Amino acid sequence: MALIYQSTRDEKNTVTASQAILQGLANDGGLFTPTTCPEVELDFDKLKDASYQEVAKLVLSAFLDDFTSEELDDCIRSAYDGKFDTPEIAPLVKLNGQYNLELFHGSTIAFKDMALSILPYLMTTAAKKHGLDKEIVILTATSGDTGKAAMAGFADVPGTQIIVFYPRDGVSKVQELQMTTQTGSNTHVVAIDGNFDDAQTDVKRMFNDVALREKLAAHGKQFSSANSMNIGRLVPQVVYYVWAYAQLVKQGEITAGDEVNFTVPTGNFGNILAAFYAKQIGLPVGKLICASNENKVLTDFFATGVYDKKRTFKVTTSPSMDILVSSNLERLIFHLLGNSAAKTKELMEQLGADGEYTLADVNQEILDLFAAGFATEDETVAEIKRVYDGNAYIEDPHTAVASAVHQTYRQETGDETPTVIVSTASPYKFPVVAVEAVTGRTDLSDFEALEVLHEVSGVPYPKAVDGLETAPVLHDTVVATAEMQAEVERYLGL
Ligand SMILES: *Cc1c(COP(=O)(O)O)cnc(C)c1O
Repeated sequence: MALIYQSTRDEKNTVTASQAILQGLANDGGLFTPTTCPEVELDFDKLKDASYQEVAKLVLSAFLDDFTSEELDDCIRSAYDGKFDTPEIAPLVKLNGQYNLELFHGSTIAFKDMALSILPYLMTTAAKKHGLDKEIVILTATSGDTGKAAMAGFADVPGTQIIVFYPRDGVSKVQELQMTTQTGSNTHVVAIDGNFDDAQTDVKRMFNDVALREKLAAHGKQFSSANSMNIGRLVPQVVYYVWAYAQLVKQGEITAGDEVNFTVPTGNFGNILAAFYAKQIGLPVGKLICASNENKVLTDFFATGVYDKKRTFKVTTSPSMDILVSSNLERLIFHLLGNSAAKTKELMEQLGADGEYTLADVNQEILDLFAAGFATEDETVAEIKRVYDGNAYIEDPHTAVASAVHQTYRQETGDETPTVIVSTASPYKFPVVAVEAVTGRTDLSDFEALEVLHEVSGVPYPKAVDGLETAPVLHDTVVATAEMQAEVERYLGL
């Protein structure tokens, strides 16, 4: 029997995995979420010697069960290939007191590549399966990393268009240039005069706009999403949790069955939610530690049960986590409320109307899996320095937030469970902060900092930043948040 993906806001709105990937978001505003857990045999005596692709096959076949074995093989082979700069795909590095799972070896040097290198293949395969004759328009809001990784995946993919909105003042110079120099005749990049939440809110609104959907259909087009609201983003992220555990067994750091904690630098709650699903299929997880920067809505939420977005949005040095409305938390809320769509819908409507909601009557076992904390800007810089001094290893600011939160968590709880720090970006993506933390220099431009970073880290330049300074800028559109839909209609000729 096929696994059922149900909207978090309507129990009658159910689809299969491939349909969920095609649609992206449920058109009632909810997110498609598995209502039962697929069965997967996690035999780490075997998995410790499996390749990343083999682990991917195991996990994807369980969750995406209406794809054939051949279809998944094709998608996996096309996704996890030489685009990654190491055949391991996601190396696990041992440092003093922690393991860093490096998810930044793909083409845009951030963890979004782990899922976005496979999503276009899953989506075009799903389109073929369902005989879809419409052009798929990927509409995406990005806090900096999703946009580039999605375009790298979808550029020149036949039958698709991709439109990316990013906050003009909310991304690093390297992130911005990666996007504005993007080639591909089907890519369109737009800066907005607003923050990530503004972009994400309006993208969600467009998805749910019935008139706009009809207009698109009349032009032979339909929207889908490359944000982590799409289940096709989440499922490939489950893979690396299983993989990381297998590496720990392989390296003799743990015995199969031992518990492992994961600390995840969190923004939209997609990455850590994938870890939750890994636990559901039987991965021996102790705690999932949710790490935030100074936009610490989630830290407060786990401490009090109140989700309150009514606060000042802060632009930090870990911009991909500058988020006040974490979309994927809706899926956890749904599970915490016993998979009740009615209760989830009520809370999400409260969030829209009042800017807050309070959780009650939850599944305590699920809630107890999570711990949460945040790191200030100063603590983040200090953590980059601490890790560098102790290991000659440079973390990017997002990873350092997680690393710092883990230090505090360990001191406060005494929990000495082996811990994986989910390392979401290369320091080359945020060179100014990394260099300032390590050398104290504050006078460098982004490209000067890249050079210094290369000298002090000894890590080779990733392809992603090589030549970026001189690449032609191909996208320079800036619009007000209120003009996003007009820009979409103009670009698509609606
Ligand atoms: C997107 C991103 C995050 C946050 O991940 P979520 O799945 O949105 O919680 C953290 N770090 C980096 C570098 C990212 O690009």
